[in-house]
Amino acid sequence: MTKPLTQTDKWRKVEDAGLDRGAARLTPERIEKVINEVIDKETSIRFQAYMRDCVRCGLCAEGCHYFLSRDRDPSYSPVAKMHQTAWEMVRRKGKVSAEFVRNAVQLAHTECNLCRRCLHYCPFGIDTAYVMGIVRRIGNRLGVTPQYIQDTANSHSATMNQMWVKEDEWIDSLKWQEDEARDEFPDLRIPLEKEGAEIMYSVIAPEPKFRTQLIYQAAAIFHEAGMDYTFPATPGWDNSDMAMFVGNNEIMGRLKRLHFETAQRLRVKRIVMGECGHAFRSVYDVGNRWLGWRDSPIEIVHGVQFYHELLTSGRIQVETQIEDLVTFHDPCNIIRGRGLMEQGREVAKAFCKNYIEMTPNREHNLCCAAGGGVINCGPPFKETRVKGNRAKAEQLKATGAKIVIAPCHNCHGGLEDIIHAYHLDMKLMFLGDIIYKHMKKTKAV
Ligand code: SF4
Ligand code: SF4
Repeated sequence: MTKPLTQTDKWRKVEDAGLDRGAARLTPERIEKVINEVIDKETSIRFQAYMRDCVRCGLCAEGCHYFLSRDRDPSYSPVAKMHQTAWEMVRRKGKVSAEFVRNAVQLAHTECNLCRRCLHYCPFGIDTAYVMGIVRRIGNRLGVTPQYIQDTANSHSATMNQMWVKEDEWIDSLKWQEDEARDEFPDLRIPLEKEGAEIMYSVIAPEPKFRTQLIYQAAAIFHEAGMDYTFPATPGWDNSDMAMFVGNNEIMGRLKRLHFETAQRLRVKRIVMGECGHAFRSVYDVGNRWLGWRDSPIEIVHGVQFYHELLTSGRIQVETQIEDLVTFHDPCNIIRGRGLMEQGREVAKAFCKNYIEMTPNREHNLCCAAGGGVINCGPPFKETRVKGNRAKAEQLKATGAKIVIAPCHNCHGGLEDIIHAYHLDMKLMFLGDIIYKHMKKTKAV
């Protein structure tokens, strides 16, 4: 790769109200001021080192599913993404046009999942996801962010959950699922506001809004395992975080603080999160650091770890096994980001008679192309996302599996679209789906 690509060589603009209206309000002075402020005051030596040390070898390209899926078009390589956005802003000392900012933000939001796969292919460990995060931050401070994901962050800021679920609706959803579950488990309760419980269970807002069966299933598993747990009744129950992905660190900090303060108010020993990847990243990597905490103030455990614990301690037991061929998708934020390679697949293998690995897998697995907030940029960018992940469709197809387990909400959204668009004959499941259906139910009628 000898010549840096620029936006004008190959540009693929998609209309978006947030990007277009935001860019229309910009002035050259404001652009220059914000870019230089973010680069000078909010980045560290890490950013400078990446710019300085990159030798433009292009080895990172093989790591990126957009590059692989777009017939190895170099403009989709990680290094080209950095050149076309942040590094060009620095080279021009912030003197770039509103159109340039708009296009750079579109690229950073919709052609990079912040999945960090490319980092493993770079001899210097250059983290393109970090650089794309800086571009998103500049865009957000300038008021230039894709509309759908900005709306989600705004909802979270106003209501402390990303789906504008009102406080009584949240409680009603839990009570409704408790009623449903009591037909199957007569003694089941969904505890609310239980002070001193061992665990606070937290979910993302789409669960009470669209996927209440996941709350039912989790309650059934907790009940069968005899866990001492509670849900909070107050805001702080939603652990998702699109503010993190738009680069609004201020909102992100408020959300994370409230989440941990809620757990502290309830005096629980630890927080268990449902099967969501980005929410996990927001507490072990991004939000905690923004708040100045190296680690979280209360132990926080992902659903994958928790289910593994329940199984290996004998608190839940396998009753039946799935006969169909099953494969396992490694979510970036759980596997590459946190190293939980084995727990999820061990649970999956215990419940599945016929299991096959995807190739490549674990930290080399290909992203679902929904993560990093890309799916949250909404319908205008669906085609970009689905076409940008033909490589994932080929990887899924090669397994011949009928079921893919993905312990992450975003991965479900992304893989569902891939399965549909590429006509793959497979269905998606969470670990919770499998455990609920196939565990021993000693307390059920
Ligand atoms: S999508 Fe993943 S592999 Fe591609 S540039 Fe972004 S972080 Fe790197
Ligand atoms: S592999 Fe690393 S050094 Fe080579 S072009 Fe990519 S980011 Fe630069």
